[in-house]
Amino acid sequence: MDISDILKAILSRPTAPFREGHVISTICNLLETGNVAHFQDAAGNLIVGAANEREYRKLVRTRSKEPLRVFIAHMDHPGFHGKAWTKGGELEFTWHGGSPTQHLEGASVWLASRGAFRASGTITRATLITSGKAIQSGTVRIDDPVSRADAQRLFPKAAELFGGFAFREPLWQDGDLLYTKAADDLVGCAAIVTMALASAKKKAAPFLGILTRAEEVGFIGAIAHFELGWLERATRPVLCVSLETSRALPGAEIGKGPVVRLGDRANVFDPGYLRLFTDLAEKKLPGRHQRRIMDLGSCEASAAIAYGFRPIGISVPLGNYHNQSFEGGPDSRGELGPAPEFVHLNDVRGLLDLCRALLIPGLDWTDPWKTKQRQFKKSLKTYRSLLRSKL
Ligand SMILES: [Zn+2]
Repeated sequence: MDISDILKAILSRPTAPFREGHVISTICNLLETGNVAHFQDAAGNLIVGAANEREYRKLVRTRSKEPLRVFIAHMDHPGFHGKAWTKGGELEFTWHGGSPTQHLEGASVWLASRGAFRASGTITRATLITSGKAIQSGTVRIDDPVSRADAQRLFPKAAELFGGFAFREPLWQDGDLLYTKAADDLVGCAAIVTMALASAKKKAAPFLGILTRAEEVGFIGAIAHFELGWLERATRPVLCVSLETSRALPGAEIGKGPVVRLGDRANVFDPGYLRLFTDLAEKKLPGRHQRRIMDLGSCEASAAIAYGFRPIGISVPLGNYHNQSFEGGPDSRGELGPAPEFVHLNDVRGLLDLCRALLIPGLDWTDPWKTKQRQFKKSLKTYRSLLRSKL
C-alpha cells in the first residue's frame, strides 16, 4: 500500500481530542490486514510494533548499540464536544485545541458520534477564550431537519457528539496539494502506518510507533504513556522521533521538502542526535529538505524531553494550521477564518524518506560527534604551527 492510499483511509475519518475512535479503528484494520503487531495502552494510545506490554518492554531491554526508534504522532485534531441541547434544538459545544478566530458564525462543521451517525451543521454562535486565540464554546445548528431530529433522539446526552470544521470534502487533491479537514497530525500517523506495513513485509528491524490521543490540549496521551514507565531502564539508546505537521514559516515552506525540526516553541531538541540526523538528511534528500526550529507550536518531543528522553523531530510544513486561514486558498472563509489545512505530497513523501533513513542500521548514535571531532582535529593540525608562532 502506497502512502497516498493510507492518507486517504486515515484523513477522511472524523477525529477530535479524546474522540480518536474512528482513526483508531481504521488504523487497526490496516495493521491487522498487514500482520503488524499493535495494541492500546491504558490511556488508549495505539502502540505499533509490539503486541503487548511484554513485547514492548522486551524491545526496550534488548542489549544493543542500535537505538530503539520510537516514532510519535498524534491521532486527534482540534474540534468540539457536544455539551447540551438548547431549547431550540441547537447543540451547545465546548472547543478543544487551537482554531480559527474570525468568520466563525455561518461556518460549516461536520458532526459524528462514536458509531455511524454523521451530520453537517452550521455554527450559529462562537465565543473565544480570553486571549482571543481560539474558540472556547458555541452553538451549532444541524443542517438537515431529519438528522437534527435523529441527533436529539439518538443522543439525548449531547456529549456523545463531536465535530470540527467541514469543507467541500474531508480530503481532496489539487495537483500535488492535499486539502483536508485535518492533516495535523493524521499525516504523521499515516507515515508510521506506512512504515510499519512495509517493514512487516520485509521483516525489517523493529521500531515502535506511539500514536497518541489528545495532543492538542497539551500532549495528554503522550504524558499518560510516558507515565507508564515502559521506556525506563532501557539497555539501549532510545531515539524519540516526533512526526508532525507544523505551521509553515520562512525557511520551512510548503513544497520545499520535510523539515529537520531542531526544536519547538518550548524546547530545542537533542543536539547530538540532530547532528547525525542533519548529515543523514543531507545525504538522503540533498537540497530537498529544510531545517529549522518550528516555534509556532509545541509538540510531543517536548513531553519526551521532560521525561528524560533525547528527541528529534520531522515536520511537514502545513498550510492553514489548525484550520485557520493563514495561507488562504480554496474554501477559506477569509483571513484567520476557517479553511482546510493543506500539505504538499512531496513533503509527505520526503518525511517518509527521512523516517526510513532513521531505520538504517550501523549509524553511530552512541557517539554522534565523532565525525565532527575528527574534522576539528584536522583543522587544529592544519593551524598548529600558526598557533605555536609568536603572538
Ligand atoms: Zn500536531
